[in-house]
Amino acid sequence: QYGNHRPVTVQKDKLLGGLLPAGIDEKSCLSRYESALYYKELRHKPSSYLISRIRNYEALHKQCGPHTELYNKSVELIKSGQYISGSADCNYLVWISYSGLGNRILTLASAFLYALLTNRVLLVDPGVNMPGLFCEPFPEISWFLPPDFPIINQFNSLDQKSPHSYGYMVKNDIIIGNYSTASILPPLIYLHLAHDYDDQDKLFFCDQDQSFLRKIPWLVMKSDEYFVPFLFLIPSFEQELSNLFPEKETIFHFLGRYLLHPTNSVWGLVMRYYQAYLAQADEKLGIQIRVLESDVGPLKYVLDQILDCTMKENLLPQMNQEEPIVLNPTGNKQKKNIAVLMTSLSPGYAEEFRNMYWEHSTVTGEIVGVYQPSQEIYQQSENLMHERKALAEMYLLSLTDKLVTSARSTFGYVAQGLGGMKPWILYKPENRTAHNPPCVRAASLEPCFHAPPNYDCKKKTGTDTSKIVPHVRHCEDVGWGLKLF
Ligand code: GDP
Repeated sequence: QYGNHRPVTVQKDKLLGGLLPAGIDEKSCLSRYESALYYKELRHKPSSYLISRIRNYEALHKQCGPHTELYNKSVELIKSGQYISGSADCNYLVWISYSGLGNRILTLASAFLYALLTNRVLLVDPGVNMPGLFCEPFPEISWFLPPDFPIINQFNSLDQKSPHSYGYMVKNDIIIGNYSTASILPPLIYLHLAHDYDDQDKLFFCDQDQSFLRKIPWLVMKSDEYFVPFLFLIPSFEQELSNLFPEKETIFHFLGRYLLHPTNSVWGLVMRYYQAYLAQADEKLGIQIRVLESDVGPLKYVLDQILDCTMKENLLPQMNQEEPIVLNPTGNKQKKNIAVLMTSLSPGYAEEFRNMYWEHSTVTGEIVGVYQPSQEIYQQSENLMHERKALAEMYLLSLTDKLVTSARSTFGYVAQGLGGMKPWILYKPENRTAHNPPCVRAASLEPCFHAPPNYDCKKKTGTDTSKIVPHVRHCEDVGWGLKLF
C-alpha cells in the first residue's frame, strides 16, 4: 500500500522480553510499544531477576509516589528539618535536571539503578523540558516531582558549598561529629556528583558512607556523569548488580529501553524522518559528529578523519577518483542502496559527504545517500523543539545498522546504548589535526564514566580504579574514564 513503509515483522516482542509492563494506554505514548518494531531483535535478554525487581519497583513507586499519603507524610519530614532514624516509610532519590540532554539521559539511568539498589523511589525534576521529551515510564503514577516540593526552587543553586551537601557535611565534621551514631538525622541530603566534585563528595562511592546515606529518607542528586561503573566497585552492591545484569555491558541498553520513551511529538519526528529517508535503504550507517570547537566548520581535519575511518573500516564504499562512471542502466543486478544518517550541529560535514558521493561514483556501484535531520549550529538546552530534535536524532542513530560516534560524547553513548551497538569511535582530534588511527571499535555497549574517583575506600589512598575488578576498565575514548565490559 502506498505510503506504508512500516516493517511487517509485527510478531516482534513489543514488551522486550517482559522488561516493559503490559497494558499501559498505547495512544498516549506510541513509542513505548512501537519502537520494538523498528529495532533489530534484541541480541541480549533481560534477566528474569531484573524483570522481577522492576515489577517490585513499580509497586513501590505506586505506593510512595507523588501525592500519595506516604509521600505527603515524607515531605513533612523535610519541613520539620529533623527526623528520628528509621521512622520514614518510603525513601526517595530526587534527580535534578542538569546539563545537556545526553548527559541527562545517562544520569537518569544511573539514578534509577541506584534507586533500585537502595529501594528508593526515583522522582524526576521536570526541569525545563523533561515532560515534553519523555513519557511516564511507570504504570498509573507519575515519576515527576510535584512543583510544590519544598526546595525545588533551590535546585539550580545547589552545589558543593550548600549546607545540605554531603561533601560539605563531611568537610565540616557535621556527619562524624553529630550524626554517625545519633538517632536524630537530617531528612534530606544533597549529593553533588557532577564532574567538578571533590574528594569529600566522592565519598558517596564508599561503602561506609553508603551505610550512613541509607538512613536518610530524601537524597537529592545532581550529576552529569554515567556513574554506573563505579557502583560495581562498591562491595555491598556488587552481588546484587551481578544478579540483575549477568551481562554487564547491557545495563544502559536495558535501563534506557525500559525508562526512556519519547513523547508522541518526538516519536513523530523520528518516524517521519525514518520513513522518508531511511526505511527503504538496504543498509543504514549512522555517523554522529560532535566537534567541541567554537568554529562551526566544516573543519578539514575532522572531515579527513571521518573519511579515513569510514574507508579503512569498510563502512562506506570507496569512490572512483577518475572520470565519473555512468552506471549501466541495463545492469542486471540492482546495486545496494546505502543511507548515511549524519547528525551534527553544523551542516557542513553532511554537505561535503553528499557532494562527494554525487560527484564520484563508487567503485562497487553502491548508491550512497546522505541525510542530516537538523542543523542547529549551537546547543540550546532551554529550547524544547531543539531538544526534541536532539532526542529524535539520538533515536534515529540508534535505529541504524552500524554506527560511528565521536569520542567523549554522551549524545553518541545514548544512541549506541539504545541501539545495542558497538560503535566505531572517532578519536578526539588534538591540536587541530586528524587523529591517527582515526577511530577504534568500542569493545562494549556501555557508556563511559568520564570522571570517576581514583580512591580506594578501604586503604584510604589514591589508586587506579580500573584495576580493581576485571569488568571495570578504562574507556576507549577517555583514558582516565571507566566503563563496564
Ligand atoms: P555531549 O555534550 O556530546 O556529551 O552531549 P549532550 O547531549 O549532553 O549535549 C550536547 C547538546 O548539544 C545536545 O543535547 C543538543 O542539544 C546539542 N547537540 C549536539 N550535537 C547535536 C546534533 O548532532 N544534533 C542536534 N539536534 N543537537 C545536537
